[in-house]
Parts: sequence; C-alpha cells; structure tokens
Amino acid sequence: MVRIDPRAKALLCILPAAFLWCCGVHGQDARPPLRMITEAAFPPYEFLRGHEIVGIDVEICRAVAERLGRPFVAETVEFDSVIPAVISGKADIAAAGITVTEDRQRNVDFSIPYVRTGVVIIYRKSAPIVTGEQCKGRRVGVQGGTTSEAYVLERLNQEPERYKSAAEAVAAMLSGKVDCVIADIAPARNCVKGEADLAITDFISSEEYAVAVKKGQKEFLGTINSVIADLKSSGKMDEIVARFSAEADGLRSAGAPGAWASVLNDFKLCFVKNGRWEYLWKGLVVTLHVALSAILMGLMLGFLVSMVRASHDRYGYVPVLNVFAKVYLTVIRGTPMVVQLLITYYIILKSVDSKVLVAVIAFGLNSGAYQAEIMRAGIVSIDPGQMEAARALGLGYWRSMLRIILPQAVRNVLPALGNEFIVLLKDTSIVGYIALIDLAKGGDIIRSQTYSVYTPYLTVAAMYLAMVMAFTWLLGKLERHLRNTGADPVHNES
Ligand code: GLN
Repeated sequence: MVRIDPRAKALLCILPAAFLWCCGVHGQDARPPLRMITEAAFPPYEFLRGHEIVGIDVEICRAVAERLGRPFVAETVEFDSVIPAVISGKADIAAAGITVTEDRQRNVDFSIPYVRTGVVIIYRKSAPIVTGEQCKGRRVGVQGGTTSEAYVLERLNQEPERYKSAAEAVAAMLSGKVDCVIADIAPARNCVKGEADLAITDFISSEEYAVAVKKGQKEFLGTINSVIADLKSSGKMDEIVARFSAEADGLRSAGAPGAWASVLNDFKLCFVKNGRWEYLWKGLVVTLHVALSAILMGLMLGFLVSMVRASHDRYGYVPVLNVFAKVYLTVIRGTPMVVQLLITYYIILKSVDSKVLVAVIAFGLNSGAYQAEIMRAGIVSIDPGQMEAARALGLGYWRSMLRIILPQAVRNVLPALGNEFIVLLKDTSIVGYIALIDLAKGGDIIRSQTYSVYTPYLTVAAMYLAMVMAFTWLLGKLERHLRNTGADPVHNES
C-alpha cells in the first residue's frame, strides 16, 4: 500500500481547500437580477461614479428591472463586447448609446429608440477639418467597433485609426498622431471641454440610440418599449437626461491636460480626487486574488500532469492519461492566453457569473501546463538510480516518487517555478478583457477619467514591480530555507 508522507498529505488537503476559498464561490440569489451590459465610459449615457455605473441608459434599464420586479445589476465591458454579451446570454439587456444599424439588427433585437442624435468631427481650430469630404486622405481617429468607425470605412472608403474610446482618440490628436476624430456628439462635447484649440462640427450623420436584447424575446422587448414610452410621456426621460448631462459636465472640467502641470497636482487628481485611489487598491486585491488562486490551481494540475508524463516517459505507466496530458499541454501552450481567457468566459463557463472564478480557472489551466513541464523537467533530472535504490529498499513506485524523487525535483526547479509565478502575476493584467477591474484596468480607468497618462500608468508599473520584488525575495528565502534544513538531500551531506 502507498503510504504518503504526512507533509505531502497535508499539502494535498490544503491546496484544494485554499483554492476553493480563494475562488470565493458564493450562493445564488433566488430572484435572478436583470443584468445590464454597457461600456461605462460614454457620459452622460453611462459613466463611473466611483465604482458605481450611472447614467441615462442605466436609469432606463433600472426602470425596466423595476417594472419586472427584479433586482438590477450593471456591468461594464469594452464597447465591442456589449452586443456579444447579450447574444451569448452573459447579459439580459444592452444599453450603451448603441446606434440602431442594419448590421446589428441582424444579430439582436432593438427597442424603440429613446434618443435621436448623431456623430460629429472633432477638429483643431488651428487646422480645421469640418466636413466628411475634408477627412478623406487624413488620419481619422475613431473608437473601434462604433458607427464612427463604420462611417470612415464605408463613406470615406479608408481605414480609420482605431482607439478604445473617443477620449483616447482625442488624446492621440492632441499629441499629433491623428488629424481629426469622428465620434458621437455626447463624448465629443466632453472631450473638447477645456481644450482651447479643439472644436466640434454639426452632425455629419444622424443616428438613433436604442436598447438591445437577444433575438426572439417579444414579451421582454414589449416591456422595455412600454417603459421607454412611459418615461418619455411622463417627462421623466427629460429629467434623467438633464440630471446626468449636468453631472457629466463636471467630469471633464478638472482634467484638461496641461492644467495640472505639477506632479503633486497630478497625483491629487489621479488618486485623491473622487477617491480614485480605490481603483488601484481594489484592483490590487483582485490581481492578488486571481494570481494566487491560479498559482494554487496550477500547482495541483501541474503536479498531477507532471507525474503522469514522467511516469509514462520513464516507465511506460498510465498511457491513456498520458495522451490526455499531452493534448492538454499542446492546446494550452499552443494558444494565446487572452484567447483562452475569452473562450473560457464566453463559451466554456458561459453560465458562471463570478468573473474572478472564470479568470482563476483560465489562468490556473494555463499555468498548470507550464508548471507541469517545469516539474517534469525536475523529475527527469533526478538520477534513475535513486528510484531503483528506493524500490530496492522496498518502497512502492508512487511512494518513492512522492518521498524521494519529488522533494528533490521541486527544490531543483524552484527558480523556474518562481519565474512562472511571476509571469502569471503579470499576465493577469489582461483580465480587463472580461470586465474584471484588476490593478492594470484600475489604472486604465483613472487614465480615462483624468486624461492623465503618466501618473496612473507609472504608478501601476511601480506596484507590479514591488509585488514581483517582494515575491522574488520570498522565493529566495524559501530556497535558502530548503538548503539549510534537512529538506535538501543533495547539498545536506551530514
Ligand atoms: N453610438 C455609437 C455606436 O453605437 C457609439 C456608442 C459608444 O461608444 N458607446 O456605435
């Protein structure tokens, strides 16, 4: 019978428990909430007030939830992920200043429109570009995935310069990277505020915004339509528009680049004003949560897979499991992390609500593959004579593996494992793709709200660096500890 080392046994019990604890799996609410999906960087329709998503669209969707007697939750993603979220069932209702277009109508159903608006050109007064014709042949900045992008592609017949938001496109224009920007009038107004050299034109094309839902939900759409009609006829819509337009007006005022010349003032703007430091603090917690849980999951997976691979390669054991392990390693190592994350979120764990859990599983699976190969390298680096000696002394195969081979293997590959943990910690900075606000995304939100680039990004970089340095120091300590205690059978000759 295999008797497992008590330390290994404790570890095998602790790792899964720690992993589940880190994932923070929570119970479900009895009444399913109405899940709104939006892009909270489009004031006054939607924007962040601290961590709360607010705006005209949010009020419309909240009124729908009230009418249905359901709780309400709103979530923010990149604009080009808003419609896919309702199509895939990740959200029930999408509202993000979405223009009704024929292309989109093929994929989702739209409510009746709630506003008539349009797109404009943002140009420099010193080098005016004020008609669509004049944009031809120029570098035109747009937000990717929007009707402004379609305008440049279809009407101007040229490639636009795509940015994540109109504000970013305007920042690019200010630093001379594009000649003008095409955007919806609401963000355009906000972008030019406080910029003496910038102005906007009249509409160059008109549009209507509506709420989008997954196709074929007649009754649901009927409710949304009647809520919008009631808001309009009761005058409540006008009140909502006026309230959020006024609040959105105040957003930009303090953020004009150049107005905050001194480092101290920039620091105050980025971290003190409106409690913005919380984006970094909460983001840091999310980053550590995801990274540590994924490391634990990766350790468990890596351990199992490396045992299977090494046992097969050396002694021909477990051939079927070895095939599975090889497929897993090939797929994970052969595809980009960001694609794996998106596939996990939108396809494999489509019905899982906790984004932290999705991220942990995606990163855990990914890291497991790399850790497995590192551990396998450690196992095969141990002289086969050690196994033979252990077996000759009467120890079984798995017991020899666990008690004799693995402790040495793990110690030998500790630096490589540490390296993998560091890579994983930094790789988690892509979780913004699934709308998780981690440290990197927190910095990005501050950048988008303040229009200050250096302070948020440099601070985020310094925070990652500090984490990696602390981690490297801890790992060095662990290595020294293993060398100085009996846990190192090679160097501990006494
Ligand atoms: N109205 C534009 C569109 O639907 C842009 C919306 C947005 O950026 N939130 O494409």
